[in-house]
Amino acid sequence: MKHDHISFIDYNMDQLTLPMDISELIPSHSVARVVNEMIERVPDQHFLKYYPGGGRSTYHPKMMAKILVYAYTQRMYSGREIAHQLTVHLPLMWLSGFQTPDFRTINRFRSERLKGLIDDLFKQVIVLLVEEGQVQLDSYFLDGTKIEANANRYTFVWRKSTEKYKEKLEGKVEELITQIDGVWKEEASCEENEKTVISPEKIQNKVKEWEGKLEKEPKNKELKKAIKVMKKDYLPRSLKYKKNLSICGDRKSFSKTDPDATFMRMKEDHMKNGQLKPGYNVQMASNEQFILSYTLHQRPGDTRCLIPHLQEVKAKFNIDPKRIIADAGYGSEENYAYLEEKKQEAYIKYGLFEKEQKRSFKKNPHHQSNWVYDEEKDTFTCAAGKYLYFTGEKKQTTESGYESTIRVYQCNECEGCPFRKDCTTSKYGRSTQVNEAYQELKSKVKERLWTDEGKQLYARRKIDIESVFGQFKGNRSFRRFFLRGLPKVNIEIGLISLAHNLLKSAAKKAA
Ligand code: SF4
Repeated sequence: MKHDHISFIDYNMDQLTLPMDISELIPSHSVARVVNEMIERVPDQHFLKYYPGGGRSTYHPKMMAKILVYAYTQRMYSGREIAHQLTVHLPLMWLSGFQTPDFRTINRFRSERLKGLIDDLFKQVIVLLVEEGQVQLDSYFLDGTKIEANANRYTFVWRKSTEKYKEKLEGKVEELITQIDGVWKEEASCEENEKTVISPEKIQNKVKEWEGKLEKEPKNKELKKAIKVMKKDYLPRSLKYKKNLSICGDRKSFSKTDPDATFMRMKEDHMKNGQLKPGYNVQMASNEQFILSYTLHQRPGDTRCLIPHLQEVKAKFNIDPKRIIADAGYGSEENYAYLEEKKQEAYIKYGLFEKEQKRSFKKNPHHQSNWVYDEEKDTFTCAAGKYLYFTGEKKQTTESGYESTIRVYQCNECEGCPFRKDCTTSKYGRSTQVNEAYQELKSKVKERLWTDEGKQLYARRKIDIESVFGQFKGNRSFRRFFLRGLPKVNIEIGLISLAHNLLKSAAKKAA
């Protein structure tokens, strides 16, 4: 067959000569160069403090950090793959200076050396990005995303069922003690209403006591059997339940393969069956789509993560943002009060924010906000012209100890009212509640959100932090952690965040 019209570039492997300087092959704005430059600029002392000295000579932490961060920018997350790529992937070979740590060394560096180092490294790179004017820390776009843990989906332990099993077991132990000693009930009644706790220690003590008794009555078969049941069945179960409940803490569940992971409903539910999966709630903030901070949480909801997140970020990264922009999932009295006290501006909507703007809401004659309030008499006047009188205050305390004061008002003339069915379903007539402190905080936030700056900032939220999640979960396919346990998962999220920022910086420089 003739190929007159094709001309091939000369190809002769015998004459192949590689350039002396491999760096010539790395494009000037490639992410490998940015990784190299940024990590080189981090002073050595930040690395050295994690090396106690002595021992065998070891790979330079800057080299190890560079190859790991770069690998994460290229969707290489497994130690084995990174080790393999160190022999074939040119930018990695350049970054490692042709050194080839094996996968065990890479994994060990990642999960042990990076433990404290990762947060420090992330912080130093943020400082450099701020110095370069690529990032500013004033406006803080915060959101949470759930990432699946490296844990089996079917290895859950639920607190409620554990408590139920524990209670059942306690009943059985009580029964057995009553059967052998015949005194359990009296013992319990002596302590009046106080419930006698059946702990593993109590079971152990009982076993000891019975073993002593058995020595004196070696023919007591019932006692012998009871000791066996206690030792072989009840004691190990009691120990197991105690351990599981202590791992659970205030969580509802945990996974047996990664006890730090909690079962949560994930946003990406490909099977659409609402299945709960073991995971972590990652709270992250961004600015100009650069990640400013990250923290890990073991509860699924965002509301109660805000304060611990901000406290951790201040301690870890020394970031104390002026403006916090977040969605309605973070709008709570406690959060607003905290930010107010810290003099941080909240651009955070609350649950009813959107609904309140709707015509149907504004025109609803049965909504408290559309009633007339008489300050002197401390009454509301409803749509039927009747009064709702103040009946008392109640206190509500959040899990973290924040106390809200709620004033309750009641109408006593609802009987026979033509509006009743639209106004209330309560058989006692209509009541309404007012939380003055929360109202005041909400109106401040509302005012702020309605300014031009507020509107602009809130509109940016979606394109800022939400795109960051899209980029690392979608584009870089990071949807599941590789490592287990909070400290190691923190390393991974730190690596992902560093990789994300350096990719962003490279893209900006190349533009
Ligand atoms: S049901 Fe009671 S509160 Fe509601 S409109 Fe009638 S009188 Fe007023």
